Amino acid sequence: MTEAAQTAWLNAIPAAIFVVQHDKIAFANRAASDLVGCPPQELRESPFATLFQDTAEPGVARLLRRNERPLLVELTRAEIDFGGAPAQMITVMKRDPARLYRDAIAGSIDSFFLARLDRDADGNVIDVVVVDASERGIEQTRFPRDQVIGLSLTELYPEASYADLLQGFAMAVASGQSYSSELFVSNRVVIDGWYHVQLVPLQDDHVAVFLRDIDERKASEEVVNRLVNEVEQQARLLDEVLSATPDTFILFDRAGHYLYVNRKALENTGLTNEQVIGKTWRELGFPEEAGLVFDERREQVFRTGEAITYEEQFPALNGLRDFLATLTPIHDENGSIIFMLNTLYDITERKQAERELQKLAADLEQQARVFDEVLSTTPDNFLMIDREGRFVYSSPTALSNANLSAKQVVGKTWSELGFPEEMGAQSDQLVKQVFATGKATTIEVVFPTVQGLRAFESIFSPLHDKTGEVVDVVITNHDITERKQAEEALRENQRLLSSINDTVLAGIAVVDAEGNYVQINRTYADIYGYSASEMIGKHFTMILPPESREAGISAHFSVLNGEIQPSARRWQIVRKDGQTREVIAYNSLLPRENGERLRVVVVLDVSEQAEAQRALEASDRRLNSILTSMEDAVWSVQAESRELLYCNPALETLTGYSAAEFRANHELLTDVVHPDDLDYFRESRLGALEEQSVDIEYRIIRRDGAVRWVHNRYWIVRSGQDTRVDGIMNDITDRRQAAEQTMQLAIERERVGILSNFVRDASHEFRTPLSVINTRLYLMEKISDPQRQGEYIDGIKEQADRILRLVESLITMTRLDSITRMPFERLDLNRVLVMMNVSAQTSASRAGLTFVLDLSPEALHIQGAVNELMTAFSAIFDNAFSYTPRGGRIEVRSYRLNHQEVAVDVRDSGLGIRAEELPHIFERFYRVDHARSIHGFGLGLPIARKIIELHQGRIEVESVPDQGSVFRLIFPADSQGRQAGSGINTMHMND
Ligand code: ADP
Repeated sequence: MTEAAQTAWLNAIPAAIFVVQHDKIAFANRAASDLVGCPPQELRESPFATLFQDTAEPGVARLLRRNERPLLVELTRAEIDFGGAPAQMITVMKRDPARLYRDAIAGSIDSFFLARLDRDADGNVIDVVVVDASERGIEQTRFPRDQVIGLSLTELYPEASYADLLQGFAMAVASGQSYSSELFVSNRVVIDGWYHVQLVPLQDDHVAVFLRDIDERKASEEVVNRLVNEVEQQARLLDEVLSATPDTFILFDRAGHYLYVNRKALENTGLTNEQVIGKTWRELGFPEEAGLVFDERREQVFRTGEAITYEEQFPALNGLRDFLATLTPIHDENGSIIFMLNTLYDITERKQAERELQKLAADLEQQARVFDEVLSTTPDNFLMIDREGRFVYSSPTALSNANLSAKQVVGKTWSELGFPEEMGAQSDQLVKQVFATGKATTIEVVFPTVQGLRAFESIFSPLHDKTGEVVDVVITNHDITERKQAEEALRENQRLLSSINDTVLAGIAVVDAEGNYVQINRTYADIYGYSASEMIGKHFTMILPPESREAGISAHFSVLNGEIQPSARRWQIVRKDGQTREVIAYNSLLPRENGERLRVVVVLDVSEQAEAQRALEASDRRLNSILTSMEDAVWSVQAESRELLYCNPALETLTGYSAAEFRANHELLTDVVHPDDLDYFRESRLGALEEQSVDIEYRIIRRDGAVRWVHNRYWIVRSGQDTRVDGIMNDITDRRQAAEQTMQLAIERERVGILSNFVRDASHEFRTPLSVINTRLYLMEKISDPQRQGEYIDGIKEQADRILRLVESLITMTRLDSITRMPFERLDLNRVLVMMNVSAQTSASRAGLTFVLDLSPEALHIQGAVNELMTAFSAIFDNAFSYTPRGGRIEVRSYRLNHQEVAVDVRDSGLGIRAEELPHIFERFYRVDHARSIHGFGLGLPIARKIIELHQGRIEVESVPDQGSVFRLIFPADSQGRQAGSGINTMHMND
């Protein structure tokens, strides 16, 4: 047979045939290409193995068809000769359906039964008979296989409760549609329980029955239904409650079906109850990603039986929301988990708040860091104190000032930190005040820091919360120690400034490019004598005299063109009143953003300064001419080196030495001093260091040898580091002589005055006895009675005696006044008194008095003059006799008063002297009134005192009126070594 005849024959066979040579398809007939689904030529030469896959069953392969599901086929092989070469003819057959069925039911995991319907004559289905059953199906029954096969439905359900099922079979077969039902099965065949029954109609009234045990599920469902019923009841109540809550409640079954959702949950989804109940998330079209995670969680709850809580975010109708979700397992009576409750708390706000809080906290922390950093760079320090006076915050600077840490400070009070009581009290008081008033207050305090005492400006300011209530007080301490010092310096400056005349204040004017005044200050206007309004808009040359206007304009443009740097220049200006003044003008350019150029001029009126300067120069000149022409010598030397810095020609005239000689010899000013006055001169120089100016008079020896008296006034001048001595020296020789003469003259005059007083007083004393004598003589001439004449003569004698005594006293007085020196000898006072004793006793007895002399046993040596001493004693004795009435007693006692002195007391028991008289009794011609009637002249005591004083001694008086007086004469004792005649005394003229 030819190949063509062979292929035509093979194509005619209805079975699919492949001819394979060397494992490749050499030919496929029409049926074969139909089965694979592609033209025969495409199959040619393709490897057979790519089309047919081996299966575990021998002779059965899986045919990989084009565009169709793979097909299990049975292959039959035969060896043939094809085209002259050996080949394999493979016949492909679809697998036997019966076998397929057997395999299917054998391997089915479902309970499967094949049933056949029995019909009556009318064709009504009357029974269903089991024809076959799967292994799982047999297991489901209570019988072995041979008893199951052949079982009829009527046998199974004698109570005819199978009617529905029978009906179902009939319906399924009649309609050709599968029918399913869930029913509780309780028969002799299968184990009692709930089953899902599915009937699939086959040919010839055969029906496939799939039975699925849903007992477990049904049990769950029952609980669910019960619970749902219960829940539904409660739910209505609960719903009311739950719907009022913002939380979401969802009840799921194990498979993830929604069983219950509350109103909030519906609101979240926007769905109705009907749309949701019984569905899974997938059916509701929720996003896969979230759904899978939820499934996992749900599984976990069912597996572990433990509730889980988590936070999640998912979109709700009102946007992306945050939820706190809880999955809680719900158990049935047996403890099996049947549902799961999903509770969702909307925590969006809380989360937002949390996030904001976190952000805020982060911000705050950041701020605090920045705050701290900023604060640590400022010298200011900050404290925050709460209502209880406790520290809430302390800035780093404050902490380092106090050398404390934040931990130590926060929560403490001032006193707890050991600050001085009164300081804490002041702060607490101010904090209280700020809390009470809500107003800041500032004080200045001095505060101990680690750098010592510092001055601070403390601002106590309130810190408010949102409601405006004061929650804390912030104390800002600004170290103002430097500022205080600066202020002090400033005040000092201001004191200086205020002492400077107001005219130094600058006038300021702004002039536009054309030269017109745009702006001027008051001082400016004042300087020129105009008012501001009179100047604004006018050209600045108005204040310049005509001759300098051109210069003014050119200066103006120089400034505008930036040709000259800001500089100062003097100008003569003319005021409104015509007065000429001198000003200094400082010009500068003021460029404006709009391109306009302005000139700013600052003006100082320096007329006074200029005048003062001129005056100073003039005065300098004058001074110079004065210095040159003056007679006083002016000199100036460097303090240390004594180098002559300046002298005028008068120094030359005064000393005879030239300025050059003074410059050459630094000691010349000292060298010219008279040797006798040199010490005095040097001493005065020492004084000059302490006092500022020294006045001395001394003698100098001129170059020509002449001695001259000079007055030198000099003072120390300190200027900066240099110290010099300036002086003025003048010749006072003439003045000195004149002064000496004047003094002599004064002394003379004094003497004359004293004498004339003396004479006046004395003549008064003479006048009385002389007039008595005169009267007596007159009466003598008139009277011839010899007895009376005798009386007159006695009277005349008495007055003559008186005159004699007066003259004696006056002579003594005058002598004592005139002597300056008195020859002294060493003598014993006792001996002097003994010498006077006889006459004293005589006088005493005449006066009817007792005179007692009580001498010291030891000799009382003094330096003295015997006659003078006797005169003095006589005067004292006479007074005692005179002023002591008859019968009285006079005691004279000599004794050693102390180591250096000896004394003589003259004590009488007489009239005594009143206290007011005592100071006067030693004055010349002084007499106490009562004594006038007696005989004295008032010269006794002055003479006595003079003599005692010439002996370097003194007189003391104690007296009690009507009881007596004690006159105590005290002399310096003469020790053995003292030379006789050495007592030289100076007379005091005005004594
Ligand atoms: P006369 O020459 O008058 O005594 P004196 O100078 O001696 O002058 O005394 C001055 C006055 O001092 C006397 O007038 C007398 O009043 C008073 N006087 C001096 N000695 C005594 C004394 N012993 N007792 C009382 N009065 C005395």
